[in-house]
Amino acid sequence: MLKNDMLEQWDRESFFHPSTHLAEFARGNVAQRIITGGTNCHIEDRDGNRMLDAFAGLYCVNVGYGRQDIAEAIAAQAKELAYYHSYVGHGTEASITLAKMIMDRAPAHMSKVYFGMSGSDANETNIKLVWYYNNILGRPEKKKIISRWRGYHGSGLMTGSLTGLHLFHNKFDLPLNQVLHTEAPYYFRRPDLAMSEADFVAHCVSELEKMIEEEGADTIAAFIGEPVLGTGGIVPPPAGYWDAIQKVLEKHDILLIADEVVTGFGRLGTMFGSEHYGLKPDLITIAKGLTSAYAPLSGSIVSEKMWKVLERGTDENGAIGHGWTYSAHPIGAAAGVANLKLIDELNLVQNAGEVGAYLNKVMTEAVGSHANVGDVRGEGMLCAVEFVKDRDSRTFFDAGDKVGPQLAAALLEQNVIARAMPQGDILGFAPPFCLTHEEADEVAGKTAIAVKKVLG
Ligand code: PLP
Repeated sequence: MLKNDMLEQWDRESFFHPSTHLAEFARGNVAQRIITGGTNCHIEDRDGNRMLDAFAGLYCVNVGYGRQDIAEAIAAQAKELAYYHSYVGHGTEASITLAKMIMDRAPAHMSKVYFGMSGSDANETNIKLVWYYNNILGRPEKKKIISRWRGYHGSGLMTGSLTGLHLFHNKFDLPLNQVLHTEAPYYFRRPDLAMSEADFVAHCVSELEKMIEEEGADTIAAFIGEPVLGTGGIVPPPAGYWDAIQKVLEKHDILLIADEVVTGFGRLGTMFGSEHYGLKPDLITIAKGLTSAYAPLSGSIVSEKMWKVLERGTDENGAIGHGWTYSAHPIGAAAGVANLKLIDELNLVQNAGEVGAYLNKVMTEAVGSHANVGDVRGEGMLCAVEFVKDRDSRTFFDAGDKVGPQLAAALLEQNVIARAMPQGDILGFAPPFCLTHEEADEVAGKTAIAVKKVLG
């Protein structure tokens, strides 16, 4: 392990950090944090701080840190065979076993899994498959993709376009023109406070139908959505939302892509979010929880309905023109197999549901009545607290006040990591599934202290 006095200087001079204020970082005004280790829900930095990571990295270290079973599986695979490709029918024991394990867990109507490295590239794959599918079906005009404002689907050219957050578009010439954004199912931010949940669902549906009518259903290929909005604010959908949206999609023969990068493999207390909300997707995106981020690996799970058309496409056109060097990388696959086994052995999906519900309960008790807390919401092991200037009129703080980042900083001072979500004053919590009741109490209690410190 590199222990080096120059790390801080090298970091400022050489490292282009993602999602970082580059100029402030280079000037030394954004703190550096060099992480050295972790066990279960805690990480340590090289200054000796031990922090409760209530965001599981980027909601990805689902089984928790320091799992030796996964580390050993990775090491064994690296020693035996660090790499071979998966083109033209090649595979490894790990990649084939993992494919089988994923399909055993996926909804019954799904057929095959294609492996990538990240959530972003898996969604790029999905859009290519959707376009290919419609070309094979002789519908070359049916290509536009509908996403939601505040959806997060990655930060590539297409996936950054699908993402409905302005930060990911501004100055990047995005979104691309094949992508349309519709209303987010964000009841707390409903356009009219008088709307009931049912009214708001009807509003979301009518916005979608209006868009389909204006654009023409024969130009729209797919709708992509996270079962629970993640980076856009950790927002579970209002009751009945997914049923109503799916009816519209079916009526217009529009495919559904369930982006389960966050919700896949247990975060909602069910193996998939699709199961939780009764979704019947044509494609499912998986990443983070597939390996608990012990190695980079993602996947696109393809339904039988689409698979048949893809097979027909290759009969008509030859091998599918899609593949990455690192698709089904054996080290990632070995990590995935060990991770899914551990999730089963430790009953972590159930724990995510149970302790997640407890976290939401104690968080509501700890901060729910504060004058500046507008909403406490969550599902499974996801929880968010949204802050407002005035509760009754639901007036938001100015972005420049940086209330969310100040609250996250006040939590960090107490060695708890939460995430200030990028659009709005929202503290996000998405701990590892092994969170204990005591740790949930600690997170909620320290959040209350942070709120008092920043907002009085
Ligand atoms: N989709 C969702 C729902 C995500 O939350 C993310 C990342 O946070 C992505 C896609 C993109 O994944 P990655 O950062 O691995 O490219």
